[in-house]
Amino acid sequence: MYLSIHGTAALVVAQSAPNPWLAFIYSLFLHLLLDIIPHGDEFLIKGFAPKKKLRRLLGATIIDGLILIFLLATYFISTSPTNITNIGWALAGALLPDFLEAIYLTTDIPFLKPWHKFHDRLHDFFKHHLLWTQGVLVQVMVLTALWLWLI
Ligand SMILES: [Zn+2]
Repeated sequence: MYLSIHGTAALVVAQSAPNPWLAFIYSLFLHLLLDIIPHGDEFLIKGFAPKKKLRRLLGATIIDGLILIFLLATYFISTSPTNITNIGWALAGALLPDFLEAIYLTTDIPFLKPWHKFHDRLHDFFKHHLLWTQGVLVQVMVLTALWLWLI
């Protein structure tokens, strides 16, 4: 799923986690659970030449990152949260899996190959592939559910 979904999930986790370490671990686990839901972005870079793969990955990450920053700003402005440490660690746990994936996809570091295979298997858990547009719809629904939980 997109970083904006995982980042919002981290905010939900940060609200209820009793401490920053558990916020990190719960968010990491929630990231893996959310990736199991068929969401259509697994083919964003599959089958493209390495240069084009990198451009597509970078473009999607920039747009997604800007959306996440907007969502975080909205959350901070509207709620003035006091659990900043929890939020920071929850965000780290929620974003780490895709950060590692991005490093592997752009560098092919052998050390991260087992992680890449595991992450890929999660995306293919239900073997139900969606079109990108269907995936966006699923992700908007998940994002809406998370925000309804959050506010
Ligand atoms: Zn992921």
